[in-house]
Amino acid sequence: MKIGIVGGSIAGCSAAILLGRLGAEVSVLERASHMLLGKGAGIVLPENLIQQCIHLDLFDNNIPPLPISTRTLTVKDEKFDHSGKQIWQQPIDVVALNWSDVYFNLYKRIPNNSYCYKEEIISASETNNICHVETSQGKKYTFDLLIAADGIDSIVRKKILPQYSSDYTGYVAWRGVTNMPELGQYKIPEGFMPCYVYKNGHLLIYPIPASDYQTSGTKLLNWLIYEEFDSNALEKLLVDNNGIKHSASLPPRSLTAEHLKHLKQFSDRVLPRNIAEIIHKTEKPFLQIILDGQVPHYAKSRICFVGDAATILRPHSGSGVLKSINDSINLSKILECSEESDLVTALQAWDVSQKTIAHQQVSLAKTLGNALVTNTPPWEKMDFEIVDEWWKSIMTGREWYATRQQLK
Ligand SMILES: Cc1cc2nc3c(=O)[nH]c(=O)nc-3n(C[C@H](O)[C@H](O)[C@H](O)COP(=O)(O)OP(=O)(O)OC[C@H]3O[C@@H](n4cnc5c(N)ncnc54)[C@H](O)[C@@H]3O)c2cc1C
Repeated sequence: MKIGIVGGSIAGCSAAILLGRLGAEVSVLERASHMLLGKGAGIVLPENLIQQCIHLDLFDNNIPPLPISTRTLTVKDEKFDHSGKQIWQQPIDVVALNWSDVYFNLYKRIPNNSYCYKEEIISASETNNICHVETSQGKKYTFDLLIAADGIDSIVRKKILPQYSSDYTGYVAWRGVTNMPELGQYKIPEGFMPCYVYKNGHLLIYPIPASDYQTSGTKLLNWLIYEEFDSNALEKLLVDNNGIKHSASLPPRSLTAEHLKHLKQFSDRVLPRNIAEIIHKTEKPFLQIILDGQVPHYAKSRICFVGDAATILRPHSGSGVLKSINDSINLSKILECSEESDLVTALQAWDVSQKTIAHQQVSLAKTLGNALVTNTPPWEKMDFEIVDEWWKSIMTGREWYATRQQLK
């Protein structure tokens, strides 16, 4: 079977490895001109997914993870301390990784001749059980199965499901990665993920392994800070320092002087002084518009959708990469058990199960976003016990891998 995969990031690479191992002739068509290293920042995953990926030979067994076991909530209180007043500690169970390590572990497992750069797909269709794609250079390809792994702005999705659109949540995340010395006097205890809360948002910080962590032990500091923005303001916000309008994010080095000034003032206003310093000292912050989305069909005949092309989750549940890898694992399991003649029927079954899984993922991410950004409680009036009750009221009846032990 000939399988075309549009997009060669987390979802595309994991699908290419797993489906290639089933004996399919796989081609990854990636529009970028070189490896995607450095595209992402820090990610968090459940430890059991990392073990599963090692077991499935998607990751090396020495991929560097930094376990996180405690999340703290802290409010700005200049009377108290320039680092804020801690109001809660929560046991969590997640592992922080560098996005580039995850990507490279997947990428290097794909045979060189299966991964094609500079192949920007501009159209996709299916006729008579054959999937067609065309590149911006006019090249045409045909496949028995087409997988859309082309991310949040998926062109395949636009062509095949033109009625679909994602929803803007009403807020954005400014993000950055910086060196640990930028922390100055402020120190993050080992295994901690501090969260600085304020009205309608928070800053989350956690260390991630640097690219040379295995030899040097160097860690970087990954942060993201949320801010509400009216949808009318996005038009201007998404214009970069070359005057180019982006659709959902502004990459590192593309923020304007106005963006940087705004971010500095915003962090001074909402964060304790020592913490705002970290944002000021970060050299190349970037911007992500936070969206919700779930395609109405994960498979439409012989064309299917995985990763961010299929489901867009708010970052709060730390499930973007988890979802992208799991989509590919689930797809490969379905295809492993079906004959080529039953492909469309197998994909219909996969579509049904994906809808259920994704619905739960979107719902959890929305719940956490609502609690931690759009509808925040009066943090300054809260103490450990009140936050504990608040958290229970949000999470009762919900499953989240990070706090699974507590909810049982
Ligand atoms: C900075 C950052 C931090 C994140 N942190 C976390 C986290 O902590 N935990 C977590 O789980 N998730 C996190 N995420 C989200 C997670 O990275 C994404 O959900 C995940 O990478 C989605 O993978 P994907 O392969 O579906 O899409 P993407 O990674 O967006 O890849 C899509 C690929 O398709 C290619 N492409 C697009 N259009 C075309 C076209 N027309 N033709 C050919 N190729 C095309 C793109 O070049 C790209 O390589 C983070 C994301 C970012 C950016």
